[in-house]
Amino acid sequence: MTAPITQDVLTIPRRLPEGGRTNLIGLTRDGLRDALLAIGTPERQAKMRVGQIWQWVYHWGVRDFAAMTNLAKDYRALLAEHFVLELPQVVSRQVSADGTRKYLVRIAGGHEVETVYIPEEDRGTLCVSSQVGCTLTCSFCHTGTQKLVRNLTAGEIVGQVMLARDDLGEWPVSGQPKDETRLLSNVVLMGMGEPLYNFDAVRDAMRIVMDGEGIALSRRRITLSTSGVVPEIARCATEIGCLLAVSFHATTDEVRDGLVPINKKWNIETLLAALRDYPRLSNSERITFEYVMLKDVNDSDADARRLVKLIAGIPAKINLIPFNEWPGAPYQRSDWERIEAFADIIYKAGYASPIRTPRGEDIMAACGQLKSATERARNARRAEA
Ligand code: SAH
Ligand code: SF4
Repeated sequence: MTAPITQDVLTIPRRLPEGGRTNLIGLTRDGLRDALLAIGTPERQAKMRVGQIWQWVYHWGVRDFAAMTNLAKDYRALLAEHFVLELPQVVSRQVSADGTRKYLVRIAGGHEVETVYIPEEDRGTLCVSSQVGCTLTCSFCHTGTQKLVRNLTAGEIVGQVMLARDDLGEWPVSGQPKDETRLLSNVVLMGMGEPLYNFDAVRDAMRIVMDGEGIALSRRRITLSTSGVVPEIARCATEIGCLLAVSFHATTDEVRDGLVPINKKWNIETLLAALRDYPRLSNSERITFEYVMLKDVNDSDADARRLVKLIAGIPAKINLIPFNEWPGAPYQRSDWERIEAFADIIYKAGYASPIRTPRGEDIMAACGQLKSATERARNARRAEA
């Protein structure tokens, strides 16, 4: 029997009271409209005011109501009296030798999450967290060993994108030509947490990120990774429309039960059935199967052949992730020759099988290494004692 998985998630009020003021960041357009009506904005003006404020906040990156010069002075003062525009606080920023940036971000209640920016030649990807820790306990994942868990609010999720844009200096400057090359061009929900266990907040945050009047990232530049929360998978297509990645990692239920315990609830067959039914499935929008390469656990030729058989008929990419070690991890990374031999079998079966280069390992920013610094320090102190 598997324990109920969401039971330990703490919930906090959606809007953060800051001296009694509501944070507007993270509200949907409808939510923003309600907030403006609540402070006496006339109904007939509400739509226009939403559009104006939205553009200031999400297109220009403005955080000060006083700077919203197309609003009347009195109205700006009224906004400042009732609302704030606040991002989570960046506690520290580490930069890896390979240019990867890791932000330690403090959110309400003093909790911390990590956000990672990965520059590549043709893109810049931001790896965003959706929960503090994770209720799932995948045995190879550092985040899964973190005890404390709470869901992030939509504001805290979109806030990670905004604070990275702040750091990259990527908000447009009025009067200057628009630079079309984006430093932050892609978002992956592959940080801490299981995004499908915090679906509504993730959806609202991604809708803000995709909104054409603001940050305006295309839905095809957003990828949500799930460990396999079957009942929520279709919503990813119907309510966000982003790309989907699945943490597959094994080719038999026996092995997957040990690696990704959610498999005991929704096994490989059930997961594959949900993926075959995925509403947006097509050759141009293939599902990414993530597969962590663990020495002598899931990396044999027989595994590679089984994998190809299992996913037959599903438009797919297979992303091989060399295991990233963390202190006390019970696994080792497969040897390079093994990873290449595995990739070769998949490639010959007709699938793209890129091997994900570990990024930011020197600052513990690679996949599955995230765990808040305070948790790490606490555990280190405990170990010393
Ligand atoms: N919770 C979601 C998203 C976050 S993890 C999920 O599990 O899909 C992002 C990816 O990194 C997942 O495929 C995850 O299985 C993988 N991962 C976790 N720990 C890892 C590690 N130590 N080394 C390599 N990949 C890891
Ligand atoms: Fe959670 Fe994903 Fe880590 Fe599993 S791999 S513990 S689902 S963050």
